[in-house]
Amino acid sequence: MGTTAHAEIIAIGTELTCGSKLDTNSQWLSRELESLGWTVMRHTTLPDELELIIEELQRAAKRSQAVLITGGLGPTLDDLTREAMAAAFHQPLVRDDQSLQRIEAMFTARGRPMPARNVVQADRPEQATAIRNDWGTAPGIMLRVPGNNTHQHCLLAAMPGVPAEMRPMFEHLIRPHLLDSGIQMCRTVIRTFGYGESEAERLLDGLTARGRNPEVGITASEAVISLWVTARAASAETARRMCAETELQIRERLGMAVFGEGDAELHDVTAELLISSGQSLALLEGAATGGQMAMWLTENSATASVLHESLVLPVWGPDCRLETWPQYARDLMQGYFQAHSCDWALLSSPVEDQQAPGGVSVRRGMVALASAGELETVDVSMSGNLAIFRQRAARTALNLLRKQLQSAKSS
Ligand code: AMP
Ligand code: MG
Repeated sequence: MGTTAHAEIIAIGTELTCGSKLDTNSQWLSRELESLGWTVMRHTTLPDELELIIEELQRAAKRSQAVLITGGLGPTLDDLTREAMAAAFHQPLVRDDQSLQRIEAMFTARGRPMPARNVVQADRPEQATAIRNDWGTAPGIMLRVPGNNTHQHCLLAAMPGVPAEMRPMFEHLIRPHLLDSGIQMCRTVIRTFGYGESEAERLLDGLTARGRNPEVGITASEAVISLWVTARAASAETARRMCAETELQIRERLGMAVFGEGDAELHDVTAELLISSGQSLALLEGAATGGQMAMWLTENSATASVLHESLVLPVWGPDCRLETWPQYARDLMQGYFQAHSCDWALLSSPVEDQQAPGGVSVRRGMVALASAGELETVDVSMSGNLAIFRQRAARTALNLLRKQLQSAKSS
């Protein structure tokens, strides 16, 4: 099988394709599959249209070793998954006695007669196995069909669309059939700050090349660049070792830009460094961060404990403009560390909007890191939405401090 076991997911329902409901099943199932070593190659969302479903099932079985299907197992005329599976793989539909008894029993238990229409939920393609549904009426369907020259068989499993029924059915009754992907996966996420996506890719020099194992993916969210390292191997130990090697290469190439792993947040990492070195921080925020740093650092009492004081300043001074702000901040900070027993201060400037050539409006601002006798400023001007501007400015400020603390720790 090599080092890939390909799976795909088909979500069925017109409520999904028309935009009325969001397909959350595919996301959930993908995570489950990936954790079992499968590589999910495709998500397909289809309306309740028989021909489209048949065509897609046939194609999917040729492409992938496992195909998970959700939706279309209800009792109504628009629920076509059973029929489509039978037609796609040239089998008659048969009524599964055991399923029928269970559906009847389900209605009896609810004290209601079974509507005539519900009997169709006991139908399955002749060579398929019905999957018991202990969480609702619609049984699932599992069917093994021939694959193509890259894989001998394809396992198709259809589950109800309702997430509360689909999830336990997957966990208890489908997952055990997917444990033999033959591949062990190891994934680590490395969090970095201070580069753009393309700059990070350039510095990584080939590590993000497609087809590489471990694979390195880059995602950017709120100015944080995450590198997803995914190694696939026959044994868990090999996968872990491969992951660790690539992680080391990334750390060598990106250096101080790496601030953490997994879902680590820059403000938490910075607070932890302050806590472990017994130091404290003052925040003096102008409109450029507008309290964003204070909001993050007061999210829990541990991180809040590093704060000496936190002020949001609507104006810095009657005549303080952005040009004069660095000097203003410097003067203010001169006496600050004598009057206050704290080690660091993070500051942000007022904001000024500027119309740049070409009609682009730029929001201008600065942040600064101060300690007794020193003040380092960084320009954080950018165009775009205020919330994003503030988050990036706040992270830029926190990152100045994080780098200082980290260098002090490692020297
Ligand atoms: P069905 O099994 O097609 O009768 O689906 C029943 C209900 O499950 C739908 O009305 C949706 O509310 C929900 N559902 C179906 N497919 C999905 C999906 N892919 N993600 C989340 N919810 C879904
Ligand atoms: Mg449906």
